[in-house]
Amino acid sequence: MTSFSRICRCAAVLCLSGWAVGQAMPAKNSGTEVSAKARQIQDSAIVVDTHADTPQRFLDEGFDIGSTDPNDPGHISLDKAKRGNLGAEFFSIWVEPETNKGQFAKHTFDLIDSVYEQAARHPDRMMMAFSVDDIEKAHREHKLAALMGIEGGHSIENDIHLLRDYYRLGVRYMTLSWSNTNEWADSSGDIKDEKVQHHNGLTDFGKQVVLEMNRMGMMVDISHVADKTFWDTIATTKAPVIASHSSSRALVSAPRNMTDDMLRAVAKNGGVVQVNFFNGFIDQTFLKRAEDQAKDQEAAVQKYVDHLKADGKPVTYTDMDRIEREWMAMIPRPPLSALIDHIDHIAKVAGIDHVGLGSDFDGVSGATPQGIDSAADLPKITQALLDRGYSAEDIHKILGENTLRVFREVERVSREMQASAK
Ligand SMILES: [Zn+2]
Repeated sequence: MTSFSRICRCAAVLCLSGWAVGQAMPAKNSGTEVSAKARQIQDSAIVVDTHADTPQRFLDEGFDIGSTDPNDPGHISLDKAKRGNLGAEFFSIWVEPETNKGQFAKHTFDLIDSVYEQAARHPDRMMMAFSVDDIEKAHREHKLAALMGIEGGHSIENDIHLLRDYYRLGVRYMTLSWSNTNEWADSSGDIKDEKVQHHNGLTDFGKQVVLEMNRMGMMVDISHVADKTFWDTIATTKAPVIASHSSSRALVSAPRNMTDDMLRAVAKNGGVVQVNFFNGFIDQTFLKRAEDQAKDQEAAVQKYVDHLKADGKPVTYTDMDRIEREWMAMIPRPPLSALIDHIDHIAKVAGIDHVGLGSDFDGVSGATPQGIDSAADLPKITQALLDRGYSAEDIHKILGENTLRVFREVERVSREMQASAK
């Protein structure tokens, strides 16, 4: 991997994230027309997406999810969610580990607060949700269900009490590591970096964290983790796991994509792999181009960061992202079929009950496949799956039922563990 991971969002080797205005507007014509049948399938589903980085925008930019600005390049707004019939979004609580050193918990709380504030601002169209029942209630009331997942175990500051506090505040999954190895879980993002202290997977404390998550009813997310951490987690967990935003390594060689053996293991565990939409994870050519430019891109971001620091200005996600977005826009977007190939591959290898959607919206510097410019375009995925011969029943599983099944099972295991401890 490159040294780039320090400021990276979701890739091990690439820098990804949100935002810049006025450049690289996405290609409008994707060639995908949504038929009445696809629309009907979409509109009769509870669509669940397990990963969006929009809270960075809430906090850093003061972005209002109620925005209807046609020039806003963001993937998520209430309007866009409505158009795509997105029913539930897991908002990512991601704490950049370098710029927030020494205050991981504080920043975690600030991001959690930012999601609640959005829900409070739009009570008629959005509600906080903490369970499958809540998601179904939101669906009946035609509101977006807002859930939260912590992306990166460093947020708990090696403290099981903090982990429990996050659960009490409503966090319903935690990605054991982000691109950075923490004190108890190795990450795929820096596993080859000899300067980083690794643990050969999960430490004993890490295993305790997994079991405590099982006990509370917090889903265990294995996106981003090193391969050994994945296998240790599978051996430890009492409940099904999720890969909240991960694609297939057999198709694209990104180290945080999942091998076929891993896909089969998740199937055996009863879990779900929610496919990541980022071009660098779904298209090998895009990945190669991104790797080739990573050094120059990193230098450009660093130069800007140094400039801000020299001026005594704070470095925000938005600032870094603006530059990253410009670099990503230099690489041609793959067709939508690249994304569908990953859904199809995971459905074939793991089974139709073990694949879902984990877009990584607002976390990939605008680098999504052609035609997918926001949550409003989700029906195009349904159309593409129909075109490949998937039934309405199977498409409903992919759109959300599989994730809801796992969530329900995690709730059940939690009740069981708590009852047997009495
Ligand atoms: Zn990520």
